Amino acid sequence: MFWEDSGAIIIFAAILLISIVIILLVNRYQKRYEETQNLVVTTSKRYAYMLKQKEIIQPEKLDAVYTINRYMNSKAQLDRLNLYNQMINIIQGDPEIQDTIYKCQKNIDLKVIYDNNLQNAPNYSNQEMGFSRLYLKIEHKLSNAISDEICPIIPQFHIYFRYTSPQGRNSYYINYEFSAEEMVDCLKLCEIVENNKQTAIYQRSIMTPALRYDVMKRDGFRCVLCGRSASDGIKLHVDHIVPIARGGKTIKSNLRTLCEDCNLGKKDKYDQDGIN
Ligand SMILES: [Zn+2]
Repeated sequence: MFWEDSGAIIIFAAILLISIVIILLVNRYQKRYEETQNLVVTTSKRYAYMLKQKEIIQPEKLDAVYTINRYMNSKAQLDRLNLYNQMINIIQGDPEIQDTIYKCQKNIDLKVIYDNNLQNAPNYSNQEMGFSRLYLKIEHKLSNAISDEICPIIPQFHIYFRYTSPQGRNSYYINYEFSAEEMVDCLKLCEIVENNKQTAIYQRSIMTPALRYDVMKRDGFRCVLCGRSASDGIKLHVDHIVPIARGGKTIKSNLRTLCEDCNLGKKDKYDQDGIN
């Protein structure tokens, strides 16, 4: 009985002793780790350089992949997919995608700076310089954490054009993968298309009654092609010589008086030699 009890006490004491030793060792390691970390933070050139990069490179937070689904109205529309038109529609109709593409552009530019600056970063310290292995380990860990954090993400775009038959029996899709750079190009195309549209709207809007009158007055209130006037029972129009659709401007030198017959015969035709 006595031996059994003292045996238990000895085992208990041994466990207690081992625990204390482990706690002391862990504490010592933690203390050493903290001291070394402080040393890295205050002395490592690599870490200091990376810390500075954090101020320079602040990338947009983007996902690695964006999936876009576009639903077609018919199988025929899917079969005769006009990728150019569809891409313009997708981007023009979705401010969120536009915003994402603007952010892509920012990250693409920042990635160039990031790659370049990382190449010029000071080397990691080494053991020959008298640093402990723990120091080197912590220097790598801290520096890499920053480079992971600031590395700009350049996303991929997966675009699915889909059609599902009315009863949902058949579904089809075509998919394309676009790089961020390609999406930026698409957005630029959209802006050109949009600008052209706005120019046309603007050119039509500045065709005022006063300007119309001035042009007719200049042309003697007669059709410049057939010479008829209102007294011949025809209606006079003011016409763009170079059509707006082809970049013609609403200015007197590009305007002329035509009768309805001559104007309708002309439509959007434009002869460079002026034989209209
Ligand atoms: Zn005429």
